[in-house]
This record gives sequence, C-alpha cells and structure tokens, in this order.
Amino acid sequence: MSELRTIPNVGTRTEQDLLAMGYTTIASLKGKSAEELYREECSLRGYTIDRCQLYLYRAVVYFVNTENPNPAKCQWWLWKDDFVKPSPCGAVCIECGHFPTHCGGCRKIHGKAFWLRFTGDDICPIYQCCNKQKKTNCKGCPHLPCERFTKDPTISDKENQDNLQKMLNRLEQEGG
Ligand code: SF4
Ligand code: SF4
Repeated sequence: MSELRTIPNVGTRTEQDLLAMGYTTIASLKGKSAEELYREECSLRGYTIDRCQLYLYRAVVYFVNTENPNPAKCQWWLWKDDFVKPSPCGAVCIECGHFPTHCGGCRKIHGKAFWLRFTGDDICPIYQCCNKQKKTNCKGCPHLPCERFTKDPTISDKENQDNLQKMLNRLEQEGG
C-alpha cells in the first residue's frame, strides 16, 4: 500500500488509478488541479467517468495543498458543485468557516441560513431575489451589489469590504 492511501477518500481503486497516472507520492499531487486529475483519469479509462470522481479529486487537492486541512471538510461529497460554485451572493460554501458544521450549504438549506434569527427574515433576501428571477446568482444584475448585501457585524469594515470584493470577483469570473 502506498502513502496515497493516507489521503482521505483514496481507496484501493483511486490509489491504483493515481499510480497508473504517474502519481506515486503525496508530494507528486501538489499543485495539480482536480480538473486535471479527473481528465487524466478519464483518458486512462478511455471514457468519461462519473462526476463524483471529480468531487473526490477536489477533496484530495484540498487535503494535499492545505497545511492544516479541516477534517470536517475532507469528505468528498462536500466538494459537489453546489458547495464549490458561487452561491447567489458570490460566497462559496466550502470556503466558509460555518460549513459544514453550522450550516449545510446555501442551496441545500434553500437560503435558510442560521444568521436569519438575527435579521428576522425567513429566508436570505439575496437567495430569494435570485430565486424569484430564476437566476443562479446575482451576476449581471445592474443593482449589484444591492442593499440586500449587508455587513456582517462580527467582522471589521475592512474584512467586510474584502469579502464583498471577493464575492463580486467570483460572480464576474465564475458565475453565470
Ligand atoms: S448570503 Fe444568502 S445567498 Fe449568500 S451564501 Fe448566505 S444564504 Fe446563500
Ligand atoms: S437585486 Fe440584483 S444584486 Fe440584489 S439580490 Fe437581487 S439579483 Fe442580487
């Protein structure tokens, strides 16, 4: 058994595939993207493999490239598109400190975030607005960022501004 098996989610089959693809150590996987690994495994097999393997590789890439990976974030199913792609507001669940322990993920909980008890809303206003317009997210909205984008009172103005900028950048680059 190689050291690859110490990576969460890597069982016998994935270990054999990684070895066949030329990855024999954890170090050899550093810097690789999940999409590259997924494409290489599809080529190796000669057909398009189940997309769950891409999610597994996302978890692997997180583990091998993170100094102190959070064990709670290592399960492969937490790397499905819904948790990795921007939420309606541009936040990304897998990067959020509340996920998965305190929050099950924006789309999975249908915008019923835990912090709503502090605002009095039943559902996140951003989630609801996108839903009503049948939009995946706020990308392309002429009002972005509208008044529904409120500050998190638990962090500084600078952190709020930085977070908002990240969300807007993501929506610009990845959303749609
Ligand atoms: S602010 Fe709203 S849309 Fe954004 S992640 Fe939270 S619940 Fe989802
Ligand atoms: S008005 Fe535009 S920016 Fe505001 S929540 Fe709705 S879609 Fe997003």
